[in-house]
Amino acid sequence: MYDLVVIGSGPGGYIAAIRAAQLDMKVAVVERYATFGGTCLNVGCIPSKALLESSERYEEAKDHFGDHGIIIGEVSFDLKKMLARKDEVVASLTGGVAGLFQKNNIATFQGHGTIVDTKKVEVKKDDGSVETLETERILIATGSKPITLPGVELDKEYIVDSTGALDFQEVPGHLVIIGAGVIGLELGSVWRRLGAKVTVIEYLDEIFGGRADKDVSRLAQRVFKKQGIDFELGAAVTGAEVKDGKVIATFEQKGESKTIECDRLLVGVGRKPYTEGLGLENIGLETNKRGFIEVNAHYETSVEGVYAIGDVIPGPMLAHLAEHEGVACVERIKGIAGHVNYDAIPDVVYTHPEIASVGKTEQQLKEAGIKFKAGKFPFKANGRARALNDTEGFVKILADAETDRILGAHIIGPRAGDLIAELAVAVEFGSSAEDIARSSHAHPTLAEVIKEAALDVDGRTLNL
Ligand code: FAD
Repeated sequence: MYDLVVIGSGPGGYIAAIRAAQLDMKVAVVERYATFGGTCLNVGCIPSKALLESSERYEEAKDHFGDHGIIIGEVSFDLKKMLARKDEVVASLTGGVAGLFQKNNIATFQGHGTIVDTKKVEVKKDDGSVETLETERILIATGSKPITLPGVELDKEYIVDSTGALDFQEVPGHLVIIGAGVIGLELGSVWRRLGAKVTVIEYLDEIFGGRADKDVSRLAQRVFKKQGIDFELGAAVTGAEVKDGKVIATFEQKGESKTIECDRLLVGVGRKPYTEGLGLENIGLETNKRGFIEVNAHYETSVEGVYAIGDVIPGPMLAHLAEHEGVACVERIKGIAGHVNYDAIPDVVYTHPEIASVGKTEQQLKEAGIKFKAGKFPFKANGRARALNDTEGFVKILADAETDRILGAHIIGPRAGDLIAELAVAVEFGSSAEDIARSSHAHPTLAEVIKEAALDVDGRTLNL
């Protein structure tokens, strides 16, 4: 009898299993794929970042080494090797998760998990055999899968989702991406850097689904356009078909019907929770209208002893959030005060420049009628950014007008994804902008832009 059976080994499931084992629970993990790590490690965060890194280095060498006085002649790349390196990075990390399971004495079962009742999970293995696990509790961490569009059928060669776009065996001449969200813009950046013409078709009139701070999304769109990405905004894709090795997509824009021809079409319109074949009906657990499993603040579902975390529950679909929820969930089971502060979860887009945020946007604060002060500082006034030759962007900090408490922070610029960590800690600890402004930041570092933005909340920047 296990104390906890975790279904799914993504960042939510595997971290929850490790924390549960640390808390002396007898734990089993069920994973239907041959490798552990879920979407994030196998076909998400990690392979996309490996390709973003390789393609950025290529572009840097090709277009910007000369600015530093480095002369290297003609630069080219070997796509097969780039893809193989990505696969190696993935393999080393998924293998690492297997090692962590072993180290923590966590039993693993490869196969599709189905909940039979609140104390039984059946594992159907690839060879057809079935094993039944008995358990006190069940944690559902089955993640998500890409959303498809009516009229646009994936053939996995010409019309693909993000998984297909991580593995194109040659650079498409023209790549059209449906959806100007994080996945579309990251993968669009990869293939543009490697030579593809990239067009992004987006239903809304702005990028990032209207969720980013407007100052950031406006600058980001301008920069991406300058880099060569074309945008068709306010455009609804109505269909796509493959003809003679080309994809023809149709879309409606401002009342006009248009067509676009391309070599590959990436459907990047978001993801939906994955609960197929999970047996929720066997325990009377219903999903909400959008297919998510609803939970309370302790990640308990409406069925006693059954918990859920990660992409399968409502909220942002982020790997580090799934991990955080996993830890909080098992700590609550053991009576420890596990907790997730959803206002302190950073969100990062790994384009160039990187884009990162935590807490509320200016628009959200205005809508909520909260009075705030804003401080902003550009990277172009920062010594390290100048030395790096990477000066596009700014840091913006939003603080409560009365208490000075930081309510939101938004960065577009070099290493924004790393820089946001300081501000996420600040939000978590309830810091004021003055706390940041009075803390010493090493010189010359990009982090000084954060300090200057905090000083600007009080109108006293020093270097501008
Ligand atoms: P998942 O990682 O989806 O894992 C669920 C696991 O459950 C899967 O392995 C699945 O096979 C298994 N499973 C499902 N049903 C069953 C069953 N019945 N039996 C057995 N096993 C089952 N997030 C970030 O934070 N940063 C990023 O940079 C980032 N980049 C991304 C890039 C791409 C291209 C994509 C697609 C996603 C990206 N994400 C990123 C999102 C991130 O991958 C997810 O938020 C994260 O993986 C969610 O973790 P999870 O544990 O909830 O589920």
